[in-house]
Amino acid sequence: MTLPELEQFVVGMGQPKFRAKQILEWLWRGAPDFSVMKNLPENLRGDLDGLAQTLPCTIEQKLESADGQTTKFLLRTTNTNHEHDIIETVLMRTSYGNSVCVSSQAGCAMGCKFCASTLLGLKRNLTSNEMISQVLVAQWTLHASRLTPYASRPNGDVSHIVVMGTGEPLQNTGALRGFLETANEKLGISWRRMTVSTCGIVPGINELIEWGRPVNLAISLHAPNDELRGRLMPVNNRYPITDVLDAAFAHSDKTGRQLMIEYILLAGTNDSPEQAAELSALLKDKNVMVNLIPWNAVAERGEFAAPSNNAVHRFQDILKENGIHTRIRRTRGADIGSACGQLRLGQK
Ligand code: SAH
Repeated sequence: MTLPELEQFVVGMGQPKFRAKQILEWLWRGAPDFSVMKNLPENLRGDLDGLAQTLPCTIEQKLESADGQTTKFLLRTTNTNHEHDIIETVLMRTSYGNSVCVSSQAGCAMGCKFCASTLLGLKRNLTSNEMISQVLVAQWTLHASRLTPYASRPNGDVSHIVVMGTGEPLQNTGALRGFLETANEKLGISWRRMTVSTCGIVPGINELIEWGRPVNLAISLHAPNDELRGRLMPVNNRYPITDVLDAAFAHSDKTGRQLMIEYILLAGTNDSPEQAAELSALLKDKNVMVNLIPWNAVAERGEFAAPSNNAVHRFQDILKENGIHTRIRRTRGADIGSACGQLRLGQK
C-alpha cells in the first residue's frame, strides 16, 4: 500500500492517521510481521496481524554457509493470485558492503545446459513486490543479527543488489524496472550499486538503454563463438554473440558503466588457451571486466566438470596479456546450494 492507501486503512480501523507512517517505516525495514512494531499499541498490532501481512512472502527456511558471510533464504510466496512458490535469495556480506542476489522468476525458461535453475522450466514471473521483499528480508536479517563485520555502511544496510538469482530478468522487464526504481527511491540504493545479469535478450538490453538508469549490466557469455555458445545456451540461436555484445556495448556507452562479462569455466569445454584468445578478440579495447566463474557442481549436469586451478589461471593470464580486466569470482555458499547456477525452484 502507498501512504494514502495505508492512511485510509488505519483510519478505517478507528486509528489516527499517523499510524500509517509508523507502519510504513517498519515495512521498509523489512518487518516480518506486525508484532515487532513496538511503537504501535499492542491491541492494534494484534488486530493487524489478523488482517494483513507485511510482505508478500514468508521465510520457509534460512541457511547459513560455513563461510559465515553467506545466507540463503527460501521464501514462500503468499500472493493470493498464485500458488505458493518457493523462491531463493542470497545475502552476501562482503568487504565492500552487503549484497543481495535477487531472483526474477520462479524457475527459468532459458535451458542453459550447465545450470540448475532451469531444470524444471519456468513457473512464472515474479512481481516487483516479490522482488523488493527479497531485499527487505535480507535487510531485516542484517538489522536483527548485526552480523555485519565488514559492512562499509555504518548501519549495515543492504548496499548492493545483483539480479543474478533464479530466472531471466530481461524476460520480466516491467517488474524488474519497478523493483529497481523502488529500491532506489525507498531504500536509497544507488543505481551504480545495482547489477542486472542477462543471458543475452537483446530487446531487453535495448529497453534498459532506453530506460537510461546507470545500472550495471552483466552478460552471461560463457563461450567465445556462436557454435559452442549455441550448444550451451539455446538463447544464442535467437540472439547471436555479435548482436548481444553490440547491444551491451551500447548500454555501456550510454550509461558510462563498465560492462561485466560472466564466463563460467567448464573443464575441457570452454577453458582452452585458444578459446581464451578467441574471447580476447571479442572484447579487446572495450570497457569490460571479465568475471571468470569456475563451474559450480550441479548433480543433474554430470556432463560438465569444474576446471583445475591451473586452467583458470592460464585462461586469466591470456586475457590479461590482451589488456582485458579480469577477476576470478570467489565461490560463496556452495555448501548451502547458493553458489552461481545452483539456485533452483523449490529445493530445500
Ligand atoms: N538469467 C540471468 C541471471 C542468472 S545469473 C543470466 O543468465 O545472467 C546466474 C549466473 O550464474 C549466470 O551467469 C549463469 O550463467 C551462471 N551459472 C549458471 N550455472 C552455473 C554453474 N553451475 N556454475 C557457475 N555459474 C553458473
